[in-house]
Amino acid sequence: MTYRAPLDDILFALRLAAGEGAIEPGGVYGDIADGVAEQTLTEAARFAEEVLLPLDGIGDRVGATYANGAVTTPPGWREAYAQWRQGGWNAIAAGEDYGGLDLPALLNAGCTEIWNAANMAFAVCPLLGHSAIEAMEAHATDALKETYLRRIVSGEWTATMNLTEPGAGSDLGLMRARAERANDGSYRLFGQKIFITYGEHDLAPNIVHLVLARLPDAPAGTRGISLFLAPKFLPDEAGAFTRRNDVRCAGIEHKLGIHGSPTCTMIFGDEGGAVAFLIGEENKGLACMFTMMNNARLSVGLQGVALAERAAQMALHYARERKQGRAPGAKETSAIIEHPDVARMLLTMASNTAAARAICYETAASIDRTQRERDPARAAAAHERASLLTPVAKAFSTDIANETTSLAVQVFGGMGYIEETGVAQLMRDARICAIYEGTNGIQAIDLVMRKIRGGDGAALAREIDDMRAIARDAEFSQEALRESVEALAQASAFLTKAEVTDALAGATPYLRLFALARGATLLVKGARAATREKHPGAPRYAALARFFADHFAVAAPGLTKTVIEGGASVNESHAALNE
Ligand SMILES: Cc1cc2nc3c(=O)[nH]c(=O)nc-3n(C[C@H](O)[C@H](O)[C@H](O)COP(=O)(O)OP(=O)(O)OC[C@H]3O[C@@H](n4cnc5c(N)ncnc54)[C@H](O)[C@@H]3O)c2cc1C
Repeated sequence: MTYRAPLDDILFALRLAAGEGAIEPGGVYGDIADGVAEQTLTEAARFAEEVLLPLDGIGDRVGATYANGAVTTPPGWREAYAQWRQGGWNAIAAGEDYGGLDLPALLNAGCTEIWNAANMAFAVCPLLGHSAIEAMEAHATDALKETYLRRIVSGEWTATMNLTEPGAGSDLGLMRARAERANDGSYRLFGQKIFITYGEHDLAPNIVHLVLARLPDAPAGTRGISLFLAPKFLPDEAGAFTRRNDVRCAGIEHKLGIHGSPTCTMIFGDEGGAVAFLIGEENKGLACMFTMMNNARLSVGLQGVALAERAAQMALHYARERKQGRAPGAKETSAIIEHPDVARMLLTMASNTAAARAICYETAASIDRTQRERDPARAAAAHERASLLTPVAKAFSTDIANETTSLAVQVFGGMGYIEETGVAQLMRDARICAIYEGTNGIQAIDLVMRKIRGGDGAALAREIDDMRAIARDAEFSQEALRESVEALAQASAFLTKAEVTDALAGATPYLRLFALARGATLLVKGARAATREKHPGAPRYAALARFFADHFAVAAPGLTKTVIEGGASVNESHAALNE
C-alpha cells in the first residue's frame, strides 16, 4: 500500500471549509450539491490510484530525458496524459466560456491534493497549466482565447509559465528577457529562461508559453514587465499549427526530486525573434501574474498536503507491520507503532497534515466566495481573507511536507534510506515545494509586509476573532488554544509597528505561529462538528486536534517571543556570519 486517497477526510474538510448549508441546492456551492463533490472526488481518486500512482516510481527512476532539443517523458506518461485529457480532468476548474466545467476552487483543491499525492511530477504539468489558463481568462484578447485557451483547457495543448532567469528569481525586477514590437501588432521575444517546468515534452503536439519580458522603452524594475504568449508551433497558411516558432529547449536539469517533470532551459529568439502576442497591457505583466498568484500558491500548498498525507499513510502502514523491541508492558516483541516515540512521530505527521489541509481548504473556500458571494461586502471580505491565508497555506503546508516526509524516512528506519521503499522519493520530491512559486521566505515576507502591515487590519482581526471564539468553547486543550491565539494577536500587534528590519527578521517564525494558531483552532472546530454529526472519523479527528494543540500550538508563545525579541539577534549578529 503506497497511497489510498483519503476521501472521507477530504470530503469532511471540504464541507467544513465550505460552511454550514453551503453545499446544498441554493447554497454558495449549490452546483456541487446532490453528490457532485463525492462523485468527482471518487473518480479523481480512481484515476490517481489506477493510472498515476503506478507511474510514480518509474518517473523517479527513469526521469525525463533530453536529446537534440527534444524531451522524452518516462515510459507510460504519454498514455497517462491521453487518459487525463480524455477524462476531461484538465477542464474542471476552468471557466465555461472556453470549454471548462467551472467547478469551485474548493473541489479542485480536493482533486489537486489527490493527483499530486499519487504522482506529483506528472500532476505539476496541469497544475502550472491552470495558472496560465487563469492569466489568459482574465487578461487575454478574445482572439487569443479562441485560438489557444480553448485547446489548453481541453488538454490538447499544454501551457507553461516562463518567469525565472539566471539573474532573476525571487526578484523579477531584475529580468532581462526582451520584447520588440513587430509591424503587424505582434511582438518578437529574445532571451533565456531557466527552470521552466514542462517547457518541452512529448505529451502534447503544441506547448503554449506564457513569458514575462521587457519592452525597449519599459520603466526599470517590476513596473516595466509585460506578459506574452509564444507558442512552440505557429499556424501555417492553412491554419494548421506546423510552423516552428523561434523558441527551443537547450537542456533539462538533473534534480533532487520530481525526476519525471522536465525542468527546462528555454531559449527565445536565436533566429530572429520568437513570435509572441501581448496578454493584457504593455508593462502590466506583473499585475497579470498576480491575478492567478493566489491560486498557484494554494496549489503548491496542496502539493505539500498531498506528499505529507502519502508519507503519513506509508509510515502508519509500516509501523503496524514492523516488529522491534517490547513496548511498555508487552510480553512479546511489539509492532513499532506500540512504542510511544513512534506513535508520537505518526501523530505528528497525521496532525500536521490535517492542519495544513484545513488551512488550504479554507483558503480555497475564500477564493470561491470572492467570486460566488452575491453581497459585495462579503465578497470583498472573502478576497481579503484569501490574500491573508494564501502565504500561510503555501509555506506551512510545504514546510510540514518536508518535515513529514523526513519523519516517514525516520519511521522506516534504515529501510527509509533505501530507495526501494519509496519514502525517500517522497522526501526528495517534497523539497521543491518550499522553493518554487515564491520561496517560503518570500511567502513569510508577503504575509508580514503586505498582509499584516499593508492592510487596514480588518481581515486579521476577523480571523483572530474567529479563532478566539473556537478556543473559548473548546472541550479540550483550551488553555493551549487560548494562549496560541493571544500569542498571535500579540505578535501581530508588534509587527504592525516594528522596525522594518525586525519585521523581516521575524517573518518566518510569525508565519509558523499563525499556522499553529489557525491550524489548531480549525482542527478543534472540525472535531466538534464531527462529534455533533456522529461522523465515523470523530474520535480520530478529536485525537489529532488534541495532539496538535498539546504538541504544536503550545509553541506559539515561544514563537511570539522570537518575533518580538529575536530581531536584534538577527540584525546585530553579522559578526557570526563574517569570514
Ligand atoms: C524544479 C523547479 C521547477 C521550477 N519551475 C518553474 C517554472 O515553471 N517557471 C518559472 O518561471 N520558474 C520556475 N522555477 C523557478 C523557481 O520559481 C525559483 O527557483 C524560485 O522562485 C527561487 O528563485 P531563485 O532560485 O532565483 O532563488 P533566489 O531568489 O536566489 O533565492 C535564494 C534564497 O534567498 C532568499 N531570498 C531572495 N530574495 C530575498 C528577499 N528579498 N528577502 C529575503 N530572502 C530572500 C530566498 O528565499 C532563498 O532562500 C522552478 C524551479 C525549480 C527548481
